[in-house]
Amino acid sequence: MSFLKDALSIFKKSELLFLERYKESDEVYTFVFEKPKDLTWKAGQHGLFTITHKKIKDSIRPFTVASAPTENNLKITMRISDAPSEFKKAMLELEKGMKVSMSGPVGSFYLKDNSPTLLIAGGIGITPFRAMVKQLEAEGNGAEKQIQLLYMDSKKSYVYKDEFDEIANNMSIRVTYLDSRDDLHHEIDKFHTSFKNNGKYFIAGSKSMVDSITTHLKNNNISKGNIKKDTFRGY
Ligand SMILES: Cc1cc2nc3c(=O)[nH]c(=O)nc-3n(C[C@H](O)[C@H](O)[C@H](O)COP(=O)(O)OP(=O)(O)OC[C@H]3O[C@@H](n4cnc5c(N)ncnc54)[C@H](O)[C@@H]3O)c2cc1C
Repeated sequence: MSFLKDALSIFKKSELLFLERYKESDEVYTFVFEKPKDLTWKAGQHGLFTITHKKIKDSIRPFTVASAPTENNLKITMRISDAPSEFKKAMLELEKGMKVSMSGPVGSFYLKDNSPTLLIAGGIGITPFRAMVKQLEAEGNGAEKQIQLLYMDSKKSYVYKDEFDEIANNMSIRVTYLDSRDDLHHEIDKFHTSFKNNGKYFIAGSKSMVDSITTHLKNNNISKGNIKKDTFRGY
C-alpha cells in the first residue's frame, strides 16, 4: 500500500512561496520556501519543481526535499555553475513572495526499518541524507538505528558540514568525510564486514557514482534488495 501511496502522491500539486536563498559553498545554493500546511513528505523523497514566474523551455526538474518534514520550512539545495541552465537562471531570479510549483512528494528513497544502514553520498547527492539525518535528530532515535553516513566529495566541498558535525556530536550517527573512491570503498567494506547482509545501503549522487558504488556492492555479494539508489540524472 505504501508503494501505491508513494506513486499516487505525484498527482498532488503545491504552490510554494519563496522566502530566501543562500549560498552553501562556491557553486551550491539552498532555496527556502514556506511549507504549505497540507504538504508533508518522507525524509529522502523528492518533488518535481516547475518554474511558473516566466516561460522557459524545460521548466520542470526533480529535486530532493533537503529539509525534514519536522522542520518548519521546505528547502532544496542545488549545484549551479557559472553557466546555469534556463531553469537554474530562473531559480536565481526568485524574489521573496514569488512562487514555484511542486508535484509530489515522489519516490521510495527513505528509511523504512531499524536495520543498520550505510548512507553513501557523492557530492550534491548529500541532499536526501540531510533530510534523513535531521529527521532522526528530531525523532531522537538515531541511537537505536545504527546509521553511518559516508560523504564523498573529490573537491572536499562538504555542504551542511556544520549541521552534520553538530548532530553527530549529540547522537550516535557517524559521519565520515572522504575525497577518494578508494577510501570510500574501504569504508563500505568495513561496514559490510560488520553487518554482512543485515545492512542496508542507500546511495545518492550522479549516475556514474551510483553505478560504480552499486557494482562495488554487488561484487561484494550484497544482495540487490539491500541497495537503494537515488540517481541524480543531469550531472
Ligand atoms: C530523484 C532526483 C533528485 C534530485 N535531487 C537533486 C538535488 O537535490 N540537487 C540537485 O542539484 N540536483 C538534483 N537532481 C538533479 C536535477 O534534477 C537536475 O538534473 C540537475 O540539477 C541538472 O540540472 P540543470 O538544469 O543544471 O542541467 P540540465 O540542463 O537539466 O541538464 C544537464 C545535462 O544533463 C542531461 N540530462 C538532464 N536530465 C537528464 C535525464 N533525466 N537523463 C539523462 N540526461 C539528462 C541534459 O540533457 C544535459 O546535457 C535530482 C535528480 C533526480 C532524478
